Amino acid sequence: MLNYWLMDYIIYAFKSPLIEAMSYCLIQESECLLIDAVYSMELLEFLHKHKVNRITILLTHGHYDHILGIPLLREKYFVTVISSKNGPEVLGNPKKNLTAVANLISSFRKSAIKMNVRATSMHVDLMLQDGTFYEWNGIHFKIIYTPGHSVDSACYLMENRYLFTGDTLLQNENVTLRFPGGNQKDYIAYTKPLLETLARDLIVFPGHGERFSISDSNIFREKVE
Ligand SMILES: [Zn+2]
Repeated sequence: MLNYWLMDYIIYAFKSPLIEAMSYCLIQESECLLIDAVYSMELLEFLHKHKVNRITILLTHGHYDHILGIPLLREKYFVTVISSKNGPEVLGNPKKNLTAVANLISSFRKSAIKMNVRATSMHVDLMLQDGTFYEWNGIHFKIIYTPGHSVDSACYLMENRYLFTGDTLLQNENVTLRFPGGNQKDYIAYTKPLLETLARDLIVFPGHGERFSISDSNIFREKVE
C-alpha cells in the first residue's frame, strides 16, 4: 500500500498482484470510497482494520483488472457500484469486461500472478451522466466520459485537483484501443482533445503506475497506432 498525503486528504493506493491495476481509497469514519475495485487481499485487510461497513465504488471502466474485487466486497459489505451510462453493458458481459479472456491476457504479462479468473458478469447500481457531480461525504467528483479505451471509460475529477483516469491516461504508455469496446475514432476525435484541454497542474492517479502531473503525461507526445 502507498499513501498519498494531499492537502486535505489521504489517498491510500493498492496495487493488485493481478497485472498491477490500482485501487484508490478514501476513508471517512466507517465509510470508504474506492476508485476501481481491484483484486487485493491487502485492500480487504485494510478495510477490515478500519472497521468499514459501507463502500462506494466509482469505476473508471469495467475491465476485469479493475472490477475483480467487487464480488469479494459485496460478500462482506454494503456496496454501491457506480459507473458511466455504458457500465452495465460492459460489466454485464464477460466478453466485454474481459473476464472471458483474462487468463489469456495475463499469460502475456510477465508481472501477472497465476490466478484463474472465471468468466463473470457483474451489475452496476448507479450510472452517472457525463459532466455531473457525485458527492461523497462533502467531497465532489465530476464524471468525465472518455470513450476510447472502453465504451464505458470515464475519468473522475476530485475537487478540481485530482484526476482518476483508469486506463484512459497512463504516464508512459499509450492508451490501448484494441480491446472489445475500444474505439480509436472516439479516442482521437473526442477524448484526446478533451484531455488536452484539462488544466496542466492536475495530479493524475492512473489505473496502472504511480501518480504524475498531467503536464508530464504522454498525451502531449503520443502517436496513436
Ligand atoms: Zn482497461
